[in-house]
Amino acid sequence: MPERRLRIGVMGGTFDPIHHGHLVAASEVAQSFDLDEVIFVPTGQPWQKPDVTVSEHRYLMTVIATASNPRFTVSRVDIDRTGPTYTIDTLRDLHAQRPDAELFFITGADAIRQILSWKDVQELWDLAHFVAVSRPGHELSVSGLPNQDVSLLEVPALAISSTDCRARVNRGFPVWYLVPDGVVQYISKHHLYRSVA
Ligand code: ATP
Ligand code: MG
Repeated sequence: MPERRLRIGVMGGTFDPIHHGHLVAASEVAQSFDLDEVIFVPTGQPWQKPDVTVSEHRYLMTVIATASNPRFTVSRVDIDRTGPTYTIDTLRDLHAQRPDAELFFITGADAIRQILSWKDVQELWDLAHFVAVSRPGHELSVSGLPNQDVSLLEVPALAISSTDCRARVNRGFPVWYLVPDGVVQYISKHHLYRSVA
């Protein structure tokens, strides 16, 4: 009997901050695709978002949010690489670390649309299977994408975004129950998002 290959989810994101929408997406894909592990990969300084919070804060919030789930881990590959993060580099690095594993890259309905504009698209498909999850406010469709390489998954709808969480903290509104308790406390302890719109 050939040994079953490890099935590993890769959840990339800015995680500024990580919220329950991210965690539900990862958990649902893990369940539906029989994943052994989901690796959360906070981005380095993203080229689309020059003003994001220091990587180390985003990394630590991601660790706090995922610590209690035995199948969730966090990787530093993107934050330790200099320069902007490209998904192709994330997948190449994780593939080099886990050459025998099957990788499943998890994105929301909004992020999958950017795939077509990524460089080296063909190598992306070779490195990972892509799973696009539903997200309130975004149509879940992969028209134009090679459908043998992209799966769509309907997940419980959580209309939460990091942008909204930052704006709430900035206005003095609570983010309890939108992000894990430890992340609420981390934001407060480090005075994050006080001066960010
Ligand atoms: P921002 O508002 O700063 O862009 P965000 O909430 O979109 O933050 P990201 O870190 O940009 O969070 O997203 C990481 C990944 O998680 C993306 O693939 C995104 O589509 C997905 N995602 C984020 N929020 C949700 C949600 N509420 N439901 C499903 N997927 C989500
Ligand atoms: Mg986003």
